[in-house]
Amino acid sequence: MKGTMRGICKSKPGVGAEYREDLPIPQITEDEVLIKVHATAICGTDIHLYHWNDYAQKRMTDLPMVFGHETAGEIVEMGKNVTGYQLGDRISVETHVPCNRCWQCQNGNPHICENQRIFGVTDPGAFAEYAPVHKDCIVRLDEGITYEMGAMLEAMGAGVHGVEVAKVQGKRVLVSGCGPIGLMTIGACKAHGAKQIIACDLIDQKLEIAKTMGADIVVNSKTVHLPDFVRSRTDGVGVDAVIDITGSKQAIVAGLKAVRKGGIFVSVGLPNGEVGLNLTEDIIYREVTYTGVSGRLMFETWEDCMRILQTPGFSLEPVIGGIYPLCAFEKALEDMKKGAPGKMILIP
Ligand SMILES: [Zn+2]
Ligand SMILES: [Zn+2]
Repeated sequence: MKGTMRGICKSKPGVGAEYREDLPIPQITEDEVLIKVHATAICGTDIHLYHWNDYAQKRMTDLPMVFGHETAGEIVEMGKNVTGYQLGDRISVETHVPCNRCWQCQNGNPHICENQRIFGVTDPGAFAEYAPVHKDCIVRLDEGITYEMGAMLEAMGAGVHGVEVAKVQGKRVLVSGCGPIGLMTIGACKAHGAKQIIACDLIDQKLEIAKTMGADIVVNSKTVHLPDFVRSRTDGVGVDAVIDITGSKQAIVAGLKAVRKGGIFVSVGLPNGEVGLNLTEDIIYREVTYTGVSGRLMFETWEDCMRILQTPGFSLEPVIGGIYPLCAFEKALEDMKKGAPGKMILIP
């Protein structure tokens, strides 16, 4: 497709990004489709890219570039190697672009490919009217899933992957952090049949939404000693599983002490730099399993997300923090910075 489009572009290294109306519509390769973006959501990663931290500097090497990776849209053009899809198909996008050649890709783990590229981070993304999507990253949306929900699935999938690894059915779980992913994780724990869900955060407003999403107990971590609190609500035992969305060092250390002996701790959130842990006391003697998840299983977790979305009583509505036109992205960022709860969605 020829012509220009509106989009948010990182033009040069450094803080910031610009909204422009004269960007070229991406020209797709034979292995890609072009989507007309109907909704796109802002991720913590986008804030890193905007602020040009270490993560951004290492990965965003090909500027100028449109960024943004959480999205849903409709196929409007197809490369000749793309099969199984049609113009007009409604899709979302897996952001981990696999190489299909490395050991991980060839052994069932393309989501942790050794040569991973990332849609909207290393490669052009979705904060625009149109975006190029690799054929291996297309996820067809089930009927009844709106574009706004479709744009939230990628982030939801990160939390749901944590829920899958924690195997929460029948268990007592602590979800640490009630940002958008935390809130969706709580809903997923509920849908997966967790016996008791405790949610913590530092912002009361977010804890209110956590209740709506299915948390049985919510607590502001500022007001209690978290491990003691969790123990007091679990017959002195601790929770079977902690899913940490915060990536905060204090939250991880406190969360580890809130897991029962023999329980599991799953890190979804990314700490900045190293975290000091007392391996002897908190992990080895207590036989705690510590693991992390990166992205989503391709594509079991996506299937799981869509199943959860269709669970009676489950709704993503409470997780939507605001819907903005693309040109107002700075306002959305500002609202996030002020601590506004929920996922911010941009409509091109
Ligand atoms: Zn994201
Ligand atoms: Zn690979």
